[in-house]
Amino acid sequence: MAVFEYAPAPESRSIVDVQPTYGLFINGEFTDPRSGESRKTVNPATEEVLAEVAEADASDVDDAVRAARRAYEAVWGPMRGSDRAKYLFRIARIIQERSRELAVLESIDNGKPIKESRDVDLPLVAAHFFYYAGWADKLAYAGLGPDPKPLGVAGQVIPWNFPLLMLAWKIAPALAAGNTVVLKPAETTPLTALLFAQICQQADLPPGVVNIVTGGGATGAALVAHPDIDKVAFTGSTEVGRQIARTVAGTRKRLTLELGGKAANIVFDDAPLDQAVEGIVNGIFFNQGHVCCAGSRLLVQESIADELLDRLKRRMTTLRVGDPLDKNTDIGAINSAAQLEKIRALSAAGEAEGAQRWSPPCELPARGYWFAPTLFTGVSQTHRIAREEIFGPVLSVLTFRTPAEAVEKANNTPYGLSAGIWTEKGSRILAIADQLRAGVVWANTFNKFDPTSPFGGYKESGYGREGGRHGLEAYLAR
Ligand code: NAD
Repeated sequence: MAVFEYAPAPESRSIVDVQPTYGLFINGEFTDPRSGESRKTVNPATEEVLAEVAEADASDVDDAVRAARRAYEAVWGPMRGSDRAKYLFRIARIIQERSRELAVLESIDNGKPIKESRDVDLPLVAAHFFYYAGWADKLAYAGLGPDPKPLGVAGQVIPWNFPLLMLAWKIAPALAAGNTVVLKPAETTPLTALLFAQICQQADLPPGVVNIVTGGGATGAALVAHPDIDKVAFTGSTEVGRQIARTVAGTRKRLTLELGGKAANIVFDDAPLDQAVEGIVNGIFFNQGHVCCAGSRLLVQESIADELLDRLKRRMTTLRVGDPLDKNTDIGAINSAAQLEKIRALSAAGEAEGAQRWSPPCELPARGYWFAPTLFTGVSQTHRIAREEIFGPVLSVLTFRTPAEAVEKANNTPYGLSAGIWTEKGSRILAIADQLRAGVVWANTFNKFDPTSPFGGYKESGYGREGGRHGLEAYLAR
């Protein structure tokens, strides 16, 4: 098959002004950390150090929480919803205006392809702020009682796979509902959150309403343990989610957890195969597979397995891996050396347990963190690659014969975040979706997101919902 060559089409980096050092954003200003510590953030595609970013300790977190409390009591809590909405609409518009800058910065700090940060992350980030801005003066109509009240100060901890989008999922509903926030971005991807802090200044958001404390796990732990936090929202691994649940247990703090996943993408024998192949590719290779709701387990009906896999492999040979800033790139860099190591180790375990590994011929850049798109066939349900979240561009393929077997295998996981169904029959979509223990079920599509639609998990994927009217519930007391 002919694979067309493309000329390089790099997006310019010059639009972004990366500072050599960043402080913490507390009470509307950038300040040096009391800790005196900092940490480097690198471009995972080149290993170039982008900046030194402050590492907040418990005393810095305390300053941020105090600022958030003051802002909540004096300004943001008492403010009319229609006035809060004006600030949120203003932030949303500035995000749109500066979206190219934000997209380039996201791609260089995270490694994701510019076509995703530009066409998926940033439009969704703006849409989240617009959507929740619309709710700020209509909380009485959210179905949460006639006069729902904000909770107070929210402590929010987010991961590195969608740095700015996860920030939007956390901050937009919290602010719309009248809470103030202290947010900790992930240690490998702090830069867009710090640019967002500048956007808060540009929007004249009252000081202390949004505070950004950068740092690693210890900073996050100090935030969730702080006694003056009313609400904890966490997105990240199930393991850290468990620790946070233990910290919060027995306190008055409200908690929502968005954790890992191991989604089944189920293809029935009557599915439109070419469309399904696109959905499978999008399901597992979007964002290098660093997606909690990735379709990482492909369940394909046995009678069409060979044909589907042929078409899938052919499609995978056309995926372009490389420079995240090139507009033709489909798969960018793995976010960190540690994540690359985890993907390598689980893939090696797949081979050792007897599954067959396949990747298209693919030249990887010499520097940076890279992993070729990979497919495992001959996977059984007991294999680690069928059970554990790999969080990389690795697809495990299993087969089934009957719809009942598909459902049984799909639900045979400790997780329950998402699932996909590919079939021509509407009645089958409804019947199967009803039986899947997953928070989101996509039919004849995958990885579709919308701010109006709730998102969240069953079982070890966490509890609580983000997005939509449901997302307000986590930030309001009836
Ligand atoms: P992680 O749990 O290691 O880190 C997430 C965040 O928690 C980071 O900001 C980290 O600094 C912080 N943290 C680490 N230890 C902490 C502690 N003891 N107390 C408080 N905070 C702490 O996860 P990760 O590797 O950064 O992210 C990948 C995971 O996130 C995957 O498992 C993925 O499925 C999950 N995820 C889930 C969703 C969802 O919506 N359900 C979305 C994105 C990612």
